Order: sequence, then structure tokens, then C-alpha cells
Amino acid sequence: MIALIFSVRKVMKSGSLTEMPKMLFFILSIYLSEVGADDLYHLSFDEKIEFVSVQVCFDGEPPRYLYRNSQSNRFTEWVRAGDRNIGHRGERHLSLKGLEAGSCVSWRVNLARAASHGDYRLALQLEDAVLMPADLWFWRDDERRPLRVKVDLPEGVSLSVPWKEQIAASGQQFYVPEQTPASWSSKVAVGSFTIDQIPVGGTRLRLAIIGVPGQDKRRDLAAWIRESAASVASVYGRYPQLQPQVLIASVGKQTSPVPWAHIIRGGGAAVEFFIDHHRSLSEFRADWTATHEMSHMLLPYVSRRDRWLSEGLASYYQNVLRARDGRLTEEQAWRRLNDGFERGRKATRGGSLASATRSGRGATMRIYWSGAAIMLKADAQLRALSNGRQSLDTALEGLHGCCFEEGKTWKAKELLAELDVLTGFEVFSGLYEEHVPDEEFPDVEALYARLGVVAANGSISLEPAAPWENIRQFIMNDHSVSTGGSGNR
Ligand SMILES: [Zn+2]
Repeated sequence: MIALIFSVRKVMKSGSLTEMPKMLFFILSIYLSEVGADDLYHLSFDEKIEFVSVQVCFDGEPPRYLYRNSQSNRFTEWVRAGDRNIGHRGERHLSLKGLEAGSCVSWRVNLARAASHGDYRLALQLEDAVLMPADLWFWRDDERRPLRVKVDLPEGVSLSVPWKEQIAASGQQFYVPEQTPASWSSKVAVGSFTIDQIPVGGTRLRLAIIGVPGQDKRRDLAAWIRESAASVASVYGRYPQLQPQVLIASVGKQTSPVPWAHIIRGGGAAVEFFIDHHRSLSEFRADWTATHEMSHMLLPYVSRRDRWLSEGLASYYQNVLRARDGRLTEEQAWRRLNDGFERGRKATRGGSLASATRSGRGATMRIYWSGAAIMLKADAQLRALSNGRQSLDTALEGLHGCCFEEGKTWKAKELLAELDVLTGFEVFSGLYEEHVPDEEFPDVEALYARLGVVAANGSISLEPAAPWENIRQFIMNDHSVSTGGSGNR
């Protein structure tokens, strides 16, 4: 069943280490009032994690519907409003019509049956945990109502969720899911693993490693995640998302260390990695996937119809950031970018970048690397026009300050216009107009000539006397992690 996961294609690909300090469990202390104007969920898991029971009490009028996984109905034992059974035949949504203000609804879902069902998309049973979509049992409204979640877990059992942890004035811990649309997926793991708190750039990652035997191996994986996250945080001195959930699940021997990974946004930012834990730390460090996935968090959610932007940004930074933190030399980073552009150029066969992105299939290389070429052009142009005051890094820092509204889907054009306002130049919109309707791969030759990047016979050399030599240096060295600061511009 696991093999199915890896039919999902992995598109591209390479890690300095710092010692893992003893973790101080700090919780962002946003104190909630005792009388919250929120719908309150209460989750409880039994000793053997066979069942989860959920109760939600609504603040005021209940929502019209609760949305859930299309498979939930098969594993739901009962649904009650107060102590009255209510029907639960509907597939994706549970109607709450006619319920009074302040009502409570509860249900119980059989996790053991879902896990033994043999469909990894529904529930993946690993030795120490079950990994599943949250909407299997966490049914939520689609009205962006504020929620709070209280959880009871048996001794020795952990729950990994993307929801933020908060502490009430009483000292009780809650989770607060972000107000994202019900259709945005999220993943949860429940089992006998531990959750590592990894402090990075003003927040902490909440890392759950499941299906990986041995402390040493788990320590290595945590070091890999920490290094990649620190690199992303170096872009503007802090990690772009608070308390992200990081899930690592081992799926046995594979042809690469990280055969599949993706970012998930429902209820909060998360990234999920499927790995081959038999690989060495150096193989994980040499893999680009973690840097790519975490770089996605530098942007808010961009519509899939415009994913050349989000994939382009992640593909650009997966190389630039690894040069900045010393995992790649400058030449290696330019070479990888250039190899990517070559793959993108070969995959450009008619139609505009916009239409290739919208049609989706068969144009992955073109989509990712056209986007990366546009990001390189934007970065270099901004640095040149502003005499080094602005860059892609500063544009993203500005974006973080204004535009990470929970649950919002951005169009590329709209987001790039915002970046122009933030930087005071029209670089991003100009590149959009130039390349998104274009049937050709974005040309980089003139830029290469200014930067002194010489690509010939599959190798890269760097010209020391190029007019934009300093810009080239800054791209691959700005805020470098080893300098420990962001003031070297
Ligand atoms: Zn990506």
C-alpha cells in the first residue's frame, strides 16, 4: 500500500550541522480569556487509540454544516446532539439545521477500523503511530468560526497537529486551529512517539518522527530539519510561520532519502516528509527537499492555478539557501539553478506559462523552473535598482508583515502587485507581464552576462570582473547563516 505513495512523482533534488541543544519547551503565551467566544472542541482518545470521541459545543448559533472526510461515515459509530442520536448518512457534510444556539454535538470514530482498512490515504498505520487526515474525525465548519480544542490523551501517547498551542489563564493547554477553509487538508498523527520542540527563528518547530527506530537516527533527522529550517529563517531573521507542525514518516527502503514531501495548510502550516530512514545524515543533508518545502512557507497560500510562483520561489531558494548555509558552493548552486533552467527549457513546448500551469499535467519542470528563473530575475533587478537595499528577501519580509491572513488564497498577480508596493519598484508586475503570457522559457542570458555566470558544456564558471559581480555575491551570501546575522547587506 505504501508503494502507492511513491507513484506520486518527486520532481527535483541535496544539508551544516549544529548540535541539538536541550529543548526548552516554551509555549507562545497568548492568554485566552476563560469565557472565549469560540466553538469548543473536546477530543478524547481511549488507551489503545482504537477510538476518538469528539464533542463540540457551539458559541451561539451552530454553523449550517460540519465538513468531513468523504470516508468518515464508514467509520463513525454514532453522532449525537445532546443525548439524541442524529443521522450521519451524508458523505462530506453533517447538517446541523434546527439545532439551538449553544448546542453540543458529539461523535465517535473507530480509528482501529480505519487503520486496518488498507488505504494509506485514509490512515497509515506505522509501528508507533497512526497517520491520518484530520477531517476523518475533526469535522469543522466552513464559516471561519474561531475554534478551541481541548485534548485528553492516555499516558505515553502524543498527538501531532498543525493547530497552535495556547495556554488559558487557568494554565490549561488548548489548541487553536487557524481559520482556514474546510477544504484545506491537514494531517494528524497519534501514537507513542515523542514531539521534539525545535527552536528556530523566533518560534519552534513541532517535530514528530514516526516509524523510525533508534534515538540516534531520530537525532540525525531532527538535526537535518533544524538546519533546513534555520536556513529558511535566515531570509529575514525569523521563521515565516509560527509553531509549524513537521511530520516525518518512514516508509522503508526507497530509491532516494525523501521520495515524497509536501506542505499542508489546513488549520495551520505543516510539512510532511516520507523518508527512507536507512539513509545516512549526510544523504539527508545533501537532499534539497526539506529546504524546498520549508521555503514554501515564505509565501502565503497561492492558488494552484498560479503555482509557478510558489514552486518557483521554493525551487530558487532550495539552491540559494543551501549556498548561504554552506551546504553548496556558489558554483554548485549556480550549476543547480542552471540545470533546472535547462530542464525547464526542454519541457517548454508551446502555450503560455499561465496555460501550462493551469492545465497542470506534464509541465512540472517548466512550471517550477520558469518560476525559479523569474525569482532570480526579480532578486537581481531589485538589488540593482535599489543599490542593495531591496531584494527578494526584503520583499518577503515585507509580505510577512502585511499579508499572511489566515485562510486566504492569493492570485499570483495580486501577490506580485503587493510585493511591488512593499519594495517601491515595479519589478514583480513587470516580470509577470513579460513571462506569464510568454510561450518561451524566461531568458536569463543577458542577466547571466551582467552577473558573470558563464554556463558552458554543462559546467558553470564565475567571472570576477562582471558588472553585477557584487549582486551575484550577495544573492548566494546574503544573511549567510554562518555570519549569524542579517546585517551584512
Ligand atoms: Zn514545492
